[in-house]
Amino acid sequence: MSSETLLYGNPAKFEIDEFNQYVMNTYGRFPIAIERGEGCNLWDTNGKQYLDFVAGIATCTLGHAHPAMIKAATEQINKLHHISNLYYIPEQGELAKWLVEHSCGDRVFFCNSGAEANEAAIKLVRKYAHTVLEFLEKPIILTAQASFHGRTLATVTATGQPKYQTHFEPLVPGFAYVPYNDIKAVEDAITNLDEGNSRVGAIMLEPLQGEGGVRPGDREYFQGIRKICDDNNILLVFDEVQVGVGRTGTLWGYEQLGVEPDIFTSAKGLAGGIPIGAMICKKFCDVYEPGNHASTFGGNPFVTAIGTAVLNTIEQDNLLENVKSRGQQLRGSLQSLIDKYPRLFSEVRGWGLINGLEIHNDHELTALDIIKASMDEGLLIAPAGTKVLRFVPPLIVSEAEINQAVIYLEKAVKYCLKTKGLDS
Ligand SMILES: *Cc1c(COP(=O)(O)O)cnc(C)c1O
Repeated sequence: MSSETLLYGNPAKFEIDEFNQYVMNTYGRFPIAIERGEGCNLWDTNGKQYLDFVAGIATCTLGHAHPAMIKAATEQINKLHHISNLYYIPEQGELAKWLVEHSCGDRVFFCNSGAEANEAAIKLVRKYAHTVLEFLEKPIILTAQASFHGRTLATVTATGQPKYQTHFEPLVPGFAYVPYNDIKAVEDAITNLDEGNSRVGAIMLEPLQGEGGVRPGDREYFQGIRKICDDNNILLVFDEVQVGVGRTGTLWGYEQLGVEPDIFTSAKGLAGGIPIGAMICKKFCDVYEPGNHASTFGGNPFVTAIGTAVLNTIEQDNLLENVKSRGQQLRGSLQSLIDKYPRLFSEVRGWGLINGLEIHNDHELTALDIIKASMDEGLLIAPAGTKVLRFVPPLIVSEAEINQAVIYLEKAVKYCLKTKGLDS
């Protein structure tokens, strides 16, 4: 018996069939059940240890069981965990102040998820169009192909990927799509969509497309977009749900591009894995009034106290520096792997600690093949489409952990190639 087994109790065998009997089948789950975590490590119900380069899909900013989160959570739940927005919540005000002082935004609305944050932005854009933009009756929100903005009806409509929309028609009106990183397409769309009481009122983009394959935005493109928005009275909305909160090596993804949005959304990493969403906007477009938008749980004392603790820890522990150097290290190691297996891998791309390793389109292996083999070795990674491996470890990841992850990954690659009878 290993020391882990003694320390962490008797691993109970998890009953997958029983789970599936009661829980809706909306996810393609891997056949392991995770029971416990610490730092960048996880243990499943059989006591097997994993290095976590998924981090709850880019949410567990400080890894697992971080002392700052434990302290904030226990102190707050002992004091007050929920009260509703019928009253002032001091912890909510404190988190909003932190966000405003550390971003280009002036005002914050809190909700519980990325999709909800984007919904809040979509509604704000529409109200701004109806009340400010010469009373524009049918504002259109331009989004990018291969984007991802969430699964509610409005955000799945904003998501420029038909695979997420099929069977859920009729979709929400008022959206149009353009290819990402293509400025001419945006100019054409604005001209073509200008008709009567309908025109483009906002452009909503991810600074780096996460789900869509870890594709960073071009600086030139985004600066062009900013100018188009300024010239045409169009609001610029950034979906920072995945890339915000330090993941790219700057606090916000827009800092990588040298442009400021009018509105941006945050969620995943904002409270380190406790459910939260936020929509942040500049003062000039804050047109919400009491009764316009709301959330029962949004900004409750428990989650906002933890959010502030996470952000203060990022600042006090200089985690942005860690993200930059660990990101460089990881991309360097992955580039060496590409050089070793050039027929398998085509490219590594990303910023800070959101990176994608792309498999050649015509190669037999898929991202899932390598992810499953990595899991056997003891490394968790996520896919971003069928041919891209996504690496989004906690921002506290160490140099040794990055090295170990790449060792596991290479072992997994060798195993996959061998079982398929391929040499590279
Ligand atoms: C994950 C994600 C969302 C959706 O967030 P949920 O919390 O799952 O609703 C929206 N936009 C982007 C860019 C995301 O990565």
